[in-house]
Amino acid sequence: MKRNLIEDGINYLKYVRKNKGISVPSEYLKNIEIEIPDGKSGTIEMAAETHKKEYKEKLPGTNIVRDGGALSLIKEDWMEVNNIPSLDEKINKCSKCPLHATRKNFVFGTGNPKADIMLIGEAPGAEEDIQGKPFVGRAGKLLTDILKAINLTREEVFICNILKCRPPENRNPLPEEIVRCEPYLLKQLELIKPKFILCLGTFAGQTMLRAKEPLGKMRGKFYNFNYSDLSAKLMVTYHPAALLRNPNWKRPTWEDVQLFRKEYDKEKEK
Ligand code: SF4
Repeated sequence: MKRNLIEDGINYLKYVRKNKGISVPSEYLKNIEIEIPDGKSGTIEMAAETHKKEYKEKLPGTNIVRDGGALSLIKEDWMEVNNIPSLDEKINKCSKCPLHATRKNFVFGTGNPKADIMLIGEAPGAEEDIQGKPFVGRAGKLLTDILKAINLTREEVFICNILKCRPPENRNPLPEEIVRCEPYLLKQLELIKPKFILCLGTFAGQTMLRAKEPLGKMRGKFYNFNYSDLSAKLMVTYHPAALLRNPNWKRPTWEDVQLFRKEYDKEKEK
């Protein structure tokens, strides 16, 4: 235990040195028993600023190595769980960001907890908020059809979002919300250990890749996504809701998912 605390402390100091001037909420530091003089502790807003700075002007190379960022130092009991249902149980009352106040339902994600493939969208919309499930309604039906076209079912894969609660009026998620919610997604990735990740939409792609590029530049290729002991092939394509608005994007999406399926088959044959 003591050894872990010392390692956490060292990791934190390394993190601060790497990201000069960046701090994290005092309560997290207290949890790992690092003493901070009164009034010198950081805030979630500062962590969000760091998060924004992490985004690159140009797409990173195909090898993406992610860490948990400043908030990897949080010590909370949900971090100790070792399966997906327990994680859901531990976090579904979350009130870490203002979105908890306006949500009807927390949307954890659905599907196979041991899936080889994970689909990640942006955040729940109106229908998802009502039903507590990701990708339902018209966009959800289109996603089911896209999966079917490449011989996959929703039950085989795991589907979730970057944010677990609906932003009002479906506005874009704010950096503060991502900073607070993303650790849950990283834990989902750590537990499910997918071999393939399909990001649906610009926002999901940019968040996972820490990129600022438009979707057209991110799509159509694979990135190696590494986090903790997870190593997965990641691809970005259009969000089904965008395809409903602009049917011209259906063809590139079809090309992407075919490529995705092909690569998945190759991996299965190994
Ligand atoms: S969006 Fe995420 S961080 Fe915010 S309240 Fe919901 S679960 Fe918690």
